[in-house]
Amino acid sequence: MLRLGAHESIAGGLHRALERAASVGCESMQMWVKSSRQWTAPPLEEAEIAAFKAAEAETDIRPVVAHAAYLINIASPKSGLRKRSVASLIAEATRCEQLGIPYLVLHPGAHTGAGVDEGIRLAALSLSEVHAATEGFHLTILLETMAGQGTVLGRTFEELRAIIEATAQGERLGVCFDTCHVFAAGYELRTPEGYEATMEAFAAALGFERLKVIHLNDSRHPLGSHKDRHEHIGHGYLGEAPFRHLLHDARLDGLPGILETPKSADLHEDRENLATLRRLAKEAR
Ligand code: FE
Ligand code: FE
Ligand code: ZN
Repeated sequence: MLRLGAHESIAGGLHRALERAASVGCESMQMWVKSSRQWTAPPLEEAEIAAFKAAEAETDIRPVVAHAAYLINIASPKSGLRKRSVASLIAEATRCEQLGIPYLVLHPGAHTGAGVDEGIRLAALSLSEVHAATEGFHLTILLETMAGQGTVLGRTFEELRAIIEATAQGERLGVCFDTCHVFAAGYELRTPEGYEATMEAFAAALGFERLKVIHLNDSRHPLGSHKDRHEHIGHGYLGEAPFRHLLHDARLDGLPGILETPKSADLHEDRENLATLRRLAKEAR
């Protein structure tokens, strides 16, 4: 069984994300470690770190996962933008380390016309620089599987492997599997045979040892659409079957399974999606 959770807002302070997660019954969670629309943030204050750790100590929510800002493009062929992305990622990694967060989910970037091979080379160069600057950190950066919209890298498991193989200290990297993205990228997840074939392709390219986080999102667009739009569990093109498969897959036992579905201020959608997932976990596969 997965440890089910959701991405929660840090509005009002980092510790508020944990409180929101606890209020809807999360066993794991994801959050930003700074405003997701800004390049930089002032250093964390001791009081913020203490408030976060105190809130975490009051819950059984483990692990807490961070997601890097969308502005970051470690594969950019524009050297100014790439350098800015590396600096921003190092700052986010440092925040995670200070907060005791073990995983930072990262989009592998977009080549913006320079070509897939050049994008892979630059993404690996950037990650090598981040690893050199974060020597000794407990944090693991997780490359996320992507829908492959536009020139975004990571639309195949092999592209992620190529980045990992070209990165210095690549053994420090892990992977985050996003159900919406994988499906939109063209991997079947709905039929038992399709699900098994996709998981075997994942195992062959990356291996389950690298898999640290699963994002549980239904998809607003069909198989192979390369469009990244999340839908509530069971209400999109994926339907309920893929989630039933995942929740009964012993290879994934104990991994965090985190919702990134739309929500309103009272978070009732999170409660509903978590209830749906817990019902599917009880049903026969
Ligand atoms: Fe993501
Ligand atoms: Fe995701
Ligand atoms: Zn997405």
